[in-house]
Amino acid sequence: MKNYMISWKTIESALKDIQINNSLFVVSHARNPFEILVSVILSQNTNDKNAIKALNKLKKHLKKITPEIIIKCKEKFLEDCIRPSGMQKEKTKTIIRAAKAFVDIGGEEAFLKLDPNAAREFLLGIKGIGKKTADVVLMVTHKADVFPVDTHIRRITQRLGIVHSGNYDEISAVWKKIVPKDLYYTYHKKLIEFGRRVCRARNPLCELCALRDLCRYYQKMRNTIEELQEKCSTISKVLR
Ligand code: SF4
Repeated sequence: MKNYMISWKTIESALKDIQINNSLFVVSHARNPFEILVSVILSQNTNDKNAIKALNKLKKHLKKITPEIIIKCKEKFLEDCIRPSGMQKEKTKTIIRAAKAFVDIGGEEAFLKLDPNAAREFLLGIKGIGKKTADVVLMVTHKADVFPVDTHIRRITQRLGIVHSGNYDEISAVWKKIVPKDLYYTYHKKLIEFGRRVCRARNPLCELCALRDLCRYYQKMRNTIEELQEKCSTISKVLR
């Protein structure tokens, strides 16, 4: 099956009623750059609800999450704080590695002074930080021209048939072509909300979706249903 392009007008009109509830995004609960990075690490392999719980627990104990404060914390204490986000052992190690890397370059101020490419390279050099985590951080801290791809965006893109592979760079590049640059952050969040409420992982609400006439997944499902209906009708005629 071939990839195809979808127009900006179509996406804009299909998502026009999707409201963004910022309080449901863990990043909105973080303030300083390192806190933003920690919030995105906490959201890896879980939903934002659990990540928010873990972030708030950590903030309650530390008041502010900075690299300098984190490197003084005991690993076990950090693991206990972030337990609500799951994979606390791996995430604690990543947070500590990130804190050390920030301190090594001169702290959060020095990080903010890096240009977006250098900042991305720096983040990707920390074990446990992948492209999605780096791009979400840079979108907020550096207003970088990146389009982060999370699990919702990957699923929607593949279902629509715009990109069939799950390749991060390919999916990100296609959304960068569709969405105007100044709206990357807004539409990154809108697509996530759309994935949470309409194009859900299980039982997507295709009948309510304004993209269904273009959607490869919907067309496939509809063809399967029509084929089944045809088979049932043939069987019932034979049995009559
Ligand atoms: S038609 Fe269904 S599968 Fe396709 S984008 Fe809409 S909700 Fe998702």
